[in-house]
Amino acid sequence: MYDKTLAELSAGLHAGAFSSRELTEETLKRIHALNGTLNAFISITDDVALAEADAADARRAAGERGALLGIPLAHKDIFCTKGVKTSCASRMLDSFVAPYDATVVARLRQAGAVMVGKTNMDEFAMGSSNETSFYGPVRNPWDLNAVPGGSSGGSAAAVAARLVTVATGTDTGGSIRQPAALCGVTGIKPSYGQVSRYGMIAFASSLDQGGPLAHSAEDCAILLDAMAGFDPRDSTSLERPAPDYLSTLNAPLAGVRIGLPVEYFGEGLDVQVDGVIQEAVRTLQRLGAVLKTISLPNTPLAVPTYYVLALAEASSNLARYDGVRYGYRCEQPRDLQDLYTRSRSEGFGAEVKRRIMIGTYTLSAGYYDAYYLKAQKVRRLISNDFLRAFKEVDVILGPTSPTVAFNLGEKTADPVTMYLSDIYTIAVNLAGLPAISVPAGFVGGRPVGMQMIGGYWREASLLNIAHRYQQETDWHTQMPTAVDR
Ligand code: GLN
Repeated sequence: MYDKTLAELSAGLHAGAFSSRELTEETLKRIHALNGTLNAFISITDDVALAEADAADARRAAGERGALLGIPLAHKDIFCTKGVKTSCASRMLDSFVAPYDATVVARLRQAGAVMVGKTNMDEFAMGSSNETSFYGPVRNPWDLNAVPGGSSGGSAAAVAARLVTVATGTDTGGSIRQPAALCGVTGIKPSYGQVSRYGMIAFASSLDQGGPLAHSAEDCAILLDAMAGFDPRDSTSLERPAPDYLSTLNAPLAGVRIGLPVEYFGEGLDVQVDGVIQEAVRTLQRLGAVLKTISLPNTPLAVPTYYVLALAEASSNLARYDGVRYGYRCEQPRDLQDLYTRSRSEGFGAEVKRRIMIGTYTLSAGYYDAYYLKAQKVRRLISNDFLRAFKEVDVILGPTSPTVAFNLGEKTADPVTMYLSDIYTIAVNLAGLPAISVPAGFVGGRPVGMQMIGGYWREASLLNIAHRYQQETDWHTQMPTAVDR
């Protein structure tokens, strides 16, 4: 059962071929069998899952239908889940049990999805390899020596290894798309404001956005339909008509204008990854898409701009972990200062501390204008690049990541090299645009992802192009050999 797509499982449940209880038991069995190898889950929630499966079966018996009713799914451990540990992969929240559901979790629960667990991630979503997790790294199902990408590495690995068909993730600078690419699954980061951030633990509030990871664009569309939409509890949530991403999946691609930015195909891009993307472009051309070379001249400024703004916001957001209200508290504090200092020193990992320090520095009096304010201005220039490009093209296409998955430990000693693995994804968050990563081939047995970026609220076109591409190719259906049993 594990090799089926969400659409297929849904059809099986509708037809009565199996119950959600049976499907969930199978799913849990596979998760328990493989999680020791992959470390994709921080928590496996057997009891919650079986109770939700029974509830879904009862709802179905009462006549209810719905694509997600009874479907097992995993949440990134950044989403608050009522009564269930929500750790953000940090020692700071190792004992935190959320008292409420994030809106994303509540909506998927309402749609009848069955939560089988919480997935591993980089600590507070800070990383590109899942190696900053307090619970240890996740392994890439395609090669157990390789990283799965990050920060939603647990969700990407879980979907790739068929532990679940769908999972949630979040993307602040590439954290859905980059792990999706490195694990050979499909993942979409929606436009900023499309998916509620309520109950999604904040890293950089002006960049964070939740979204789905799945095998196909079609499955992403089903999940996103349930996740997206206005939420009065998130002040940055935009009031727009309820989306219906499924209805436009099959639109023909004739005449669709695809822009290829020169900056995304230059120095730093692995030549074999480049070859895979060129082949994918030819496939889209055969489907009727029209190509145009474009330029996004401020691309080289995206990584430095991000690492000023994201870290400034992180230092402010993470100030709430003070050892008093919730989270980790040090043993026997001598006084209040000691309580703050030791709780934070012991509760946070090295990467999180590095970022809090840099963020605090760039926000401090005297440096604010030189760094933070300057970065805000560059952010505008980066957004303008995209707005200009979207006057000429419908979508922008390139690789998701400059290389395939690297080896565990390969980049941990040099944070800047690690930060550069997100050069093609980060500008998209600075501009607040939607973007999808789609499996497009392999290099040395490791998956390659193709990224497509759309204009604001153009998720439907991205899913449409990705779906049509997936009807012509089978990269998204390949099964990783390391866990093929
Ligand atoms: N890799 C980037 C970082 O380390 C992006 C992470 C993310 O999108 N959450 O910040």
